[in-house]
Amino acid sequence: MKENKKTAVVTGGSRGIGRAICLELAKQGVNLAINYAGNQKAADETRAACERLGADVLLVRGDVSRFEDCNALFDAAIQRFGRVDILVNNAGITRDNLILRMSEQDFNRVIEVNLKGTWNCLKLASKIMVKQRYGRIINISSVVGVMGNAGQTNYAASKAGVIGLTRSLARELASRGITVNSVAPGYIETDMTAALGDEIREAVKKTIPLQRLGQAEDVAALTAFLAGDGAAYITGQVIHVDGGMYM
Ligand code: NAP
Repeated sequence: MKENKKTAVVTGGSRGIGRAICLELAKQGVNLAINYAGNQKAADETRAACERLGADVLLVRGDVSRFEDCNALFDAAIQRFGRVDILVNNAGITRDNLILRMSEQDFNRVIEVNLKGTWNCLKLASKIMVKQRYGRIINISSVVGVMGNAGQTNYAASKAGVIGLTRSLARELASRGITVNSVAPGYIETDMTAALGDEIREAVKKTIPLQRLGQAEDVAALTAFLAGDGAAYITGQVIHVDGGMYM
């Protein structure tokens, strides 16, 4: 392990926005404990790319909705790096449907992963960061958590919940030198949005003042800023990276 480097735990770091965040943090000299759900090939690719940028990387497979998996993630991070300076709660899923067709299982699963998974990691990171009297926490929400979206009652509720977690914990932990912020991406080109057909993508584009879908790197740049020294006086905020969709 390299000395004097900060350490980040990033959930859902194998693909998409999470991978871009890992790469940006690695570029800024941060070591990484990267969680992923099961895509070993993608996780190995992220690890190799971050190592090429000079980061020490620990991959930890686990389901963020399971408290014991999150516990194992933070234990492993502490064993390897000795501290956790940054937590990025990024792991998330969708199970879209109109409410009349949405199953209770699909409602529950999205809440379990996106909201309870975030809370699990917040609880474990808080214990470590309060002892350190230092921490930077970034929770990935969504424009949908603020605006709502037909067909996404489960997802919108989970992402609105992430904003509630962010603001409450920002108030709880501010006196301990820990900031807690939320990043709310709009439509970002990843596997999650690849399933949208061309017609929907074009319709979405028309609602975006900057007239393009976002890239994972657009979200990673803000997340890394919030994780760094320049963001020391920012806490409890929800910052949108959505090309102007929500204003
Ligand atoms: P993605 O491409 O589908 O990647 C999802 C990531 O989360 C993968 O690394 C996946 O691991 C991991 N993951 C899924 N379920 C998990 C679980 N139960 N435990 C641990 N890890 C899990 O998604 P994305 O588009 O990058 O989205 C990342 C975050 O941004 C999510 O919270 C999403 O809601 C949010 N967001 C995305 C958009 C967008 O337009 N894409 C917009 C707003 C917000 P494996 O690779 O192992 O499956």
